[in-house]
Amino acid sequence: MIEEKSAKLWEQSKTRIPGGVNSPVRAFRAVNRIPRFIRRASGSKIYDADGNEYIDYVCSWGPSILGHGVKEIVTAVQESAAEGLTFGAPTERELILAELVHEMMPVIEVMRLVNSGTEAVMSAVRVARGYTGRDLIVKFEGCYHGHSDGMLVKAGSGAITAAVPDSGGVPAGYAKNTLVAAYNSPSSVEELFRQRGDDIAAVIVEPVAANMGVVLPSDGFLPFLRDITSRYGSLLIFDEVITGFRLAQGGACEYFGIEPDLVTLGKIVGGGMPLGAYGGKRDVMKSVSPDGTVYQAGTLAGNPVATAAGIAMLNLIRNRKGLYERLENRGRLLADAFRKACGDKVTVNQIGSLLSVFFTPYPVTDCQSARKSDLKTFSRYFSHMLDHGIYLAPSQFEALFISDAHSDEDLKRTCEVISAFRL
Ligand code: PLP
Repeated sequence: MIEEKSAKLWEQSKTRIPGGVNSPVRAFRAVNRIPRFIRRASGSKIYDADGNEYIDYVCSWGPSILGHGVKEIVTAVQESAAEGLTFGAPTERELILAELVHEMMPVIEVMRLVNSGTEAVMSAVRVARGYTGRDLIVKFEGCYHGHSDGMLVKAGSGAITAAVPDSGGVPAGYAKNTLVAAYNSPSSVEELFRQRGDDIAAVIVEPVAANMGVVLPSDGFLPFLRDITSRYGSLLIFDEVITGFRLAQGGACEYFGIEPDLVTLGKIVGGGMPLGAYGGKRDVMKSVSPDGTVYQAGTLAGNPVATAAGIAMLNLIRNRKGLYERLENRGRLLADAFRKACGDKVTVNQIGSLLSVFFTPYPVTDCQSARKSDLKTFSRYFSHMLDHGIYLAPSQFEALFISDAHSDEDLKRTCEVISAFRL
């Protein structure tokens, strides 16, 4: 496979952009390969600067659930752009989008639009603190909630250690407000509440973790979080930046039948344009300025072009018959192909259109067990797939995303390439 142009562009980019990329995982560092510089995408395929074609299972890290270049979304963007790129004033489209989101996710009674998932989480956390008058936030080791200071924290050792920042530039004093529990471990959460319960503003969770690879919540884990937060007067925040509109029209809230107090959205909600949102119960959202004291604002928030794309996307999803059933079937097909090819030497976690293969025979239920995956084998597997025209996330600790544009032919080809991989 030719990678000459990508290699050249990367070398040049490195002189002007950190690592040559505008988001670290794009540098392919974990797999030691040359990142593909993408020129265009269409349906289930992406094409790089050297003209290589790949079946794309990154799907822009989630937004492209209907594939790339969806006509209705592109037209909505073109038409709205022609009417003006930004006004800094309210538009009818923001109301239409808020109504649509509420219809699909009824728990979101009131919603604010922002520009990214990071911003959505940062703002929801502030609302939780403002509403409860408490400072502490509980998150789970291995869950990613964007790159705001307080969220770049994981557990040191075990579930109940003092939190330390993962990133340079995050003040240790700030990180102290983030407590870390182990995913799927009610006892680690109980212990934090027993010690600090009256100071905990919220528990934030990826209802299906997709940033330590895909890890499903065990039976009863999400209801347990709903129960313990209610008992202590804390809020439950579902970070649905990945799961929103992907697991079901109503995201994880619908899939698992849980009503959190706040939900954060990103990716699909913007139809591929930069858009995020946070919202939830009316009573809680009353805290947001100008109604309440929690300040949160944005020059481009509710951008008319991004909202047009979001509306087009959600309308397509709402009206597309059998979407989630198809995605689930495709997910199962790929999961079975991995199991068949690698036997009990791998663990495959799959739910709907999210999937991860871990190179360990043991169940992966949290961050510690995800880390047991053999990363050298992952690297080999990634290269095998890439060299055969299958574009996957270049890290063990990410998900494979399936879209409605992946055809039977794409899946057949992908299964063939999987079956040719030797452990
Ligand atoms: N929350 C989750 C669950 C995510 O997966 C991500 C990004 O991948 C974010 C928040 C941050 O979103 P963004 O990258 O749009 O800032």
